[in-house]
Formats: sequence, C-alpha cells, structure tokens
Amino acid sequence: MNKIDIILSTLESMFPNAHVELDHQSHFQLLVAVALSAQTTDKAVNKVTPALFHQFPDAHALSKADVDEVKPFIQSIGLYHNKAKNIIALAKELVEKFHGDVPSDRASLEALPGVGRKTANVVLSNAFNIPALAVDTHVDRVSKRLRLAKKTDSVLVVEQKLMKKFPKEHWTKLHHQLIFFGRYHCTAKNPQCNTCPLYDMCVYPKKTKN
Ligand code: SF4
Repeated sequence: MNKIDIILSTLESMFPNAHVELDHQSHFQLLVAVALSAQTTDKAVNKVTPALFHQFPDAHALSKADVDEVKPFIQSIGLYHNKAKNIIALAKELVEKFHGDVPSDRASLEALPGVGRKTANVVLSNAFNIPALAVDTHVDRVSKRLRLAKKTDSVLVVEQKLMKKFPKEHWTKLHHQLIFFGRYHCTAKNPQCNTCPLYDMCVYPKKTKN
C-alpha cells in the first residue's frame, strides 16, 4: 500500500463514524454554528446553540434580532460581540438575497459576512455533499506531522496539497477523520505517539515511543 492508502485505511479503522460535531438541524444552523466556532471549540459552541436556535431558529428570526438580544446567548464563547454582529448580518443577507436559504455555491457563501473559505468548505461538504476539504487547526497540524504538507505551508496550501493527494470521493469524510485524529489522538500538546499506527511516517520532531 502507498502512503495515501495507508492513511485512508488507518483513519477509516480508527474513526469510521467521523462526522461534523457541531449540533444543528438545518443548513442555516450549521452555517451559524461554524461561524461561531472560530477560535473556540465545537463543544463550547454546542453549549450555546440550543438556546440560541430555540430563540432564533432560522434566518428570518435572526435577521430581526438586535445585537444586544443575541449577545447573552453566546457570551460564553470568544469574540462574542463580533460574532453576534456577524451572524445577524449573515441572517439579514440570507433573507435579502436568498429568501432565507443558505446558498450552495462557494462564491455566494464566501461573500456572506463572517464566512471564509473554511466555513464555506464545511457547509458545502456537510450541507450539500459537495466534496471539500476544510483545513482547521487539527487538519493543519496533523497534515504537517504526517508530511502531507510542509511546516511553513499556509492553510490554503495545505488544502490544495490534500486535494491533490487524496481522491475527491474521500475529501468530506477525510476532513472529519483528520479532525478526529487531531482532536482525540494526535493532539497538539500530548499526542498518543506510543499507540500511533502512523508513527513510522510521522515527522513530528518530538514524537516519542517507549
Ligand atoms: Fe501524531 Fe505522535 Fe502519531 Fe506523529 S506519532 S502522528 S505526533 S500521534
């Protein structure tokens, strides 16, 4: 087996059910949850979204909200003032331009307030089944440790390299599996190198095996 096949089969056996961990019940809620997840954890976002989505379940409801009405719902996560402003602006634009629906093309998604390439990729792949490979902090770190990208590569370059190396049909699941691998096994500070099935191909200088 070549390196790419070894990574795919290892991740498949470790995390066969890897999936998006942000709780949501609609494309709109997924988009808002991803926007809220910037620089915080999915866990922290999942704690605030049930009440937020109960109060503002769709773009129409959130578009009419005031920033001060939204802030109390999300104040336990970082950057909540800006995030409150952004998700309201996002909801307004969805109502004005897309009848409250989430668009399914990258250009329209990336033109929305607070939506960058990573958020667009997560929404494209998870909401619309359009192959995409979002690179977050876990995917970036793991890709570099497994020498799928260079240490100095930007997230965009990491994404391009992953897309070149892995067949398109694997992108969406691979994205989740790399996140799970980074979140639960190859963590930033205490990676489980001792039991790592990918130890031999890893170039992390501090990897250790007893
Ligand atoms: Fe991560 Fe350690 Fe495995 Fe390298 S050997 S991929 S650092 S867990």
